[in-house]
Amino acid sequence: MFKFVRRAGWFLLILFLPLVLFADDQAWQVAKSTHFNIFYKNASENALNELMQKAEEGYDSIAEELGFNRFNFWTWDNRAKIYLFDNQEDYIKATQGFDWSAGQVSVGDKLIQSYVGAPGFLQNIFPHELAHIIFMEKVGFNNPAVPLWLQEGVATYQEKDIHLRREELADKIKQDSYFDLSALSRFELKSSSGESVRLFYAEAYSLVNYLIAEFGKEAFVMFCRNLRDSRNLESALAKTYSFISLKDFEESWKRYILE
Ligand SMILES: [Zn+2]
Repeated sequence: MFKFVRRAGWFLLILFLPLVLFADDQAWQVAKSTHFNIFYKNASENALNELMQKAEEGYDSIAEELGFNRFNFWTWDNRAKIYLFDNQEDYIKATQGFDWSAGQVSVGDKLIQSYVGAPGFLQNIFPHELAHIIFMEKVGFNNPAVPLWLQEGVATYQEKDIHLRREELADKIKQDSYFDLSALSRFELKSSSGESVRLFYAEAYSLVNYLIAEFGKEAFVMFCRNLRDSRNLESALAKTYSFISLKDFEESWKRYILE
């Protein structure tokens, strides 16, 4: 019975899918750059050119800042996809996003979606989401050893907008009102207040910044490779940086901030 229902479901899906696809009569067009396929409908040539230029600049600068510039996998069939909707209404309808959302990423699909003129998209949202994709590609999509703080730390690392100054973070550590590494690893964005979200991002950024500032980009690339191969954060940290434990990593970071 269950099987039958499922089969019938597939059958109906196959029957009606073309109708759904063609209900929106205008087809997507595609503009290709070295690392991106940009899908659009009525976007102006100016809007497309601006996005394409920002996208390629972002790719180069993120790869450079994280030390990945010697790799170049995103060509031909491996290009990332950007869907640029004509307006906010179409974008929200298609992505079922919140009405304040100006862009969203689907990391495993290497897909970023936004709309023409979305506020803050090109300057902040796009580079952040792009860094998410590049990083996860290096450490392996679906790698369970990569905590949220590390993903957000890397994505925030290349934004120029730092969430808390080092002195502010040092005060939090002195007052013991910071997240230690295990609290950071358990942190959930959805159920947290604005203030603790700000602290979460600040620490995530700071931990990644510490690794790159203290030990360099080459070590960071090696760390990503070890994380990809071992699928274990503690052993990737130990192998790359000689931290004997997560606690040791945390204490070293704290000393660096309090210096
Ligand atoms: Zn993010």
